[in-house]
Amino acid sequence: MPPAGLDGACRIPGHEGGADASFSATIAPGAWLGLLGGGQLGRMFCMAAQSMGYRVAVLDPGAHSPAGTVADRHLRAEYQDPVALAKMAALAEGVTTEFENVPADALEFLARTRRVSPGAASVAIAQDRISEKRFLSAQGFAVAPYAVLRGEADARAVDAALLPGIVKSARLGYDGKGQVRVRTADEVAAAYTALGGAACVLERFVSLACEVSVIVARDEQQRLTTWPVAENRHRDGILDVSIVPARVAAAIADDARRIATALAERLDYRGVLCVEMFVTDAGRVLVNEIAPRPHNSGHYSIDACVTSQFEQQARVLAGMPQGDTRQLEPAVMVNLLGDLWFATATTSRPREPHWATVLRHPQAKLHLYGKGEPRRGRKMGHVTCLAPTLPEALDVAATIKRDLGIPFSGEI
Ligand code: AMP
Repeated sequence: MPPAGLDGACRIPGHEGGADASFSATIAPGAWLGLLGGGQLGRMFCMAAQSMGYRVAVLDPGAHSPAGTVADRHLRAEYQDPVALAKMAALAEGVTTEFENVPADALEFLARTRRVSPGAASVAIAQDRISEKRFLSAQGFAVAPYAVLRGEADARAVDAALLPGIVKSARLGYDGKGQVRVRTADEVAAAYTALGGAACVLERFVSLACEVSVIVARDEQQRLTTWPVAENRHRDGILDVSIVPARVAAAIADDARRIATALAERLDYRGVLCVEMFVTDAGRVLVNEIAPRPHNSGHYSIDACVTSQFEQQARVLAGMPQGDTRQLEPAVMVNLLGDLWFATATTSRPREPHWATVLRHPQAKLHLYGKGEPRRGRKMGHVTCLAPTLPEALDVAATIKRDLGIPFSGEI
């Protein structure tokens, strides 16, 4: 159901394009691009687009959002606010998004008059784990065995073959939030209730050799580019480290890239997409989830590749040719979470980490997102370590982790 005010009643003078409008022209630097969402992905998009000469308008309700503070214009309003959406449509020639929970109908509304990438249909699939899993299975992509839970009766009647498993909220889960590990049918029912009694999936726990991701960009002419496969290490469900190129057999890397490009094609995707995958102990590549936007595991591309995922997002949105995604040096990206601000303090008051610990390494590139309030588990920044060889980059990353006091398993 469309939100109030987005039912077509709002018309932008001079832009009566309609849903099937063709937006074939390129958007030249100097023009405005629009972004829905004000987080760090949006901030890095702004910076990339601005460095090419675009002006960026951000729509986000937050007062001091990471993207809002660097944007040329911050429309501070809810994503479904019809007045703000009308302003965005009047100002920006193309609009993109930085997170999948933007209401799909806001994107549909903007798409009536403006180029929007990605499209609302792709975003809607990724917004909901049930529709995502159904889409993936129907299209023949391998996923972890799962069942849909829509009520306590489903939760109690689960197939024992899906245990042990993980119950995941269908909507609004991220960074391991909205997930509970379970071993028995009783635990499934308890997890379903604990997660609020809304639709969930139960996924069988898969024995993983590693996790990988591939970022892919697809444009209006259906041209595809991919970045090298990233190997991702998580801690407490949150990405901790990305190692690129991934230390996997060539056949697995090929599989991962083939899956990511096939998925972009089946979605008829426009823009930058991340496909997160599990590599099982048996060497199978399963799709875990898709993110219809740039992704944390692609942040290394800012410093390590000819073209970053954010620059490509701007190029595709503007209808410009895509840039080369070649990686110039091996890279290890380490996430900097809010926990760091509490690492040494005995009180609960946050303390700014000693950034010289990072910057004393000339091959380390520090990125902080300008978030005022550090909180445990909150992504505050990242550091990308570059070196002529992957072992050297891993060494620098391990030293930085140790010196900052980030938990370190001994082997990255
Ligand atoms: P997700 O939010 O679904 O990406 O899950 C967060 C993290 O939990 C993943 O990156 C994995 O490390 C782990 N995880 C999620 N689902 C499974 C599964 N079915 N089997 C094993 N580990 C999983």
